[in-house]
Amino acid sequence: MGFCINCGNQHHDGVRFCRFCGTGQPSEQLLARLRAEAEQIRLLRMQMQQQQVNAQNDAYARLEAMRQQAEAATQVNNQQNQQYRPPGW
Ligand SMILES: [Zn+2]
Repeated sequence: MGFCINCGNQHHDGVRFCRFCGTGQPSEQLLARLRAEAEQIRLLRMQMQQQQVNAQNDAYARLEAMRQQAEAATQVNNQQNQQYRPPGW
């Protein structure tokens, strides 16, 4: 099933003219090409979304790694502070 490019009424695939308004319809070849393009766009969009998700996951992973490093550095500092006794005390 397709839709008239002029009036929007539904008609069968392959008709050359709309039975409602008589407007010439895109050929099957054009329709097939448009469908293929639409499918490609859909796939590209999905890939871009997936890449965005991956980039977000990467960012979260980097943040988490930085947080763990900061935590480890804090622990080392605390240990050093506890062990450190200034001379004369
Ligand atoms: Zn029409």
